[in-house]
Amino acid sequence: MSGSRSVEVCIVGAGPVGGTLACRLGEAGIATAIFDRAALPAMEHPDFDGRAYAIAAGPRRVLEAAGLWERLDRRPGPILDIRVTDGRPGEAASHRFLHFDSREVAGDPDPNAPDGAFGWMVEARSLRVAINARLHALPAVAVFAPAAVRVERGAEGALVEVAGGPAVACRLVVAAEGRESPLRRQAGIAVTRLPYGQSGMVFAIAHAVPHHGTALEHFLPGGPFAQLPMAPNEAAENVSAIVWAERTALAARMMALDEAAFTREAARRLGGHLGAIRLLGRRWCYPLSAMIAHRYTDTRLALAGDAAHGVHPIAGQGLNLGFRDVSLLGDLVIGAVVRGEDPGDADLLRRYQAERRPDNMLMLAATDALDRLFSNDLACVRLVRDLGLAAVHRIPPLKRLFMRQAMGALMA
Ligand SMILES: Cc1cc2nc3c(=O)[nH]c(=O)nc-3n(C[C@H](O)[C@H](O)[C@H](O)COP(=O)(O)OP(=O)(O)OC[C@H]3O[C@@H](n4cnc5c(N)ncnc54)[C@H](O)[C@@H]3O)c2cc1C
Repeated sequence: MSGSRSVEVCIVGAGPVGGTLACRLGEAGIATAIFDRAALPAMEHPDFDGRAYAIAAGPRRVLEAAGLWERLDRRPGPILDIRVTDGRPGEAASHRFLHFDSREVAGDPDPNAPDGAFGWMVEARSLRVAINARLHALPAVAVFAPAAVRVERGAEGALVEVAGGPAVACRLVVAAEGRESPLRRQAGIAVTRLPYGQSGMVFAIAHAVPHHGTALEHFLPGGPFAQLPMAPNEAAENVSAIVWAERTALAARMMALDEAAFTREAARRLGGHLGAIRLLGRRWCYPLSAMIAHRYTDTRLALAGDAAHGVHPIAGQGLNLGFRDVSLLGDLVIGAVVRGEDPGDADLLRRYQAERRPDNMLMLAATDALDRLFSNDLACVRLVRDLGLAAVHRIPPLKRLFMRQAMGALMA
């Protein structure tokens, strides 16, 4: 196939996953082109995406290798403790709870957790600013955005044509266009979806009492309510990100409330440990569902990030899984190009799918089970899970095991 220019890899979708993969390949000097249907600078606006990501140690290393971690304009806030509680809105949390303290495992240093934190809170906007700057600074990376593309794939290579622009030939196309990936559909790859009937409300709060790096996962009948500790910013000294999952109809009612009433509802769920709270900036609401693609690859095509999988945000793992895709795919592609081999080779793609799909399936199953267990107000189920939380809390080896296994993807 011929094109007006030629690269090793074309990435369609410059979201956090596609953008980070392009930076990772560009840092290694691999000729890469990246395309997005949207203009990238607009994504830096504070109103574009209110999310803040809990980034685990492994994905942090991916961001470091991509040259992005040190370029984040806001210092990531470390998560030093995680408290898991069960309750009902407006009631005190159950006295049976689980508390994970990163200092507790200090005597058991984990090479996967630099600085001893469970993870770091990174603002979506801050990551976006770093990705945009890096993409344009790397000589090996060509950026096409906004751009509508048409992709042709064949046994020998692929061609990405920009409407009204150039055509770029490559050996591998990466679909990183998010959940509704057109390239996945074009390749006839089926997906399984699990709707949750929940929506996730996302916003930031300022609070009177410092969080001391403690994250709270409060399980409520309508869905989990998470408070995640952020670093101070120019708006406030004590700041947390909130992800509040609620039945869709109730979430819509909450979103329609004025700021004062919405803040009161949020405070009823959070409890009083952070003192008086106030909203910082606007609120967002996302429908929640899980999804997994039946295959991650096709001829000269690899799916990455939300194009391949989506999980319930109960453990804040969605983007972490995407960064693990980036880590493996990046290593495989860089290794192949350095050895003079084909980065779109069928064996390489088979290996990518064989390593990543089971890992992502496991996280989908774990987060799905957690949500079903906790988004439930039946008295017997409440008792069993409360006793379970208390038992795990009191038995240190069990607690450490749980930390590694259940929350644990946070540490990997
Ligand atoms: C409420 C909520 C809270 C979350 N919290 C966390 C958290 O704490 N931690 C965590 O790890 N994850 C979290 N996630 C998940 C995380 O947001 C996603 O996993 C992440 O955004 C996926 O990144 P992506 O790059 O794969 O896809 P996206 O972010 O969807 O980006 C896709 C990109 O592709 C572009 N695109 C789409 N179609 C085309 C096309 N046809 N051609 C060209 N470009 C195209 C889009 O413009 C976009 O730029 C959360 C999700 C939700 C809903």
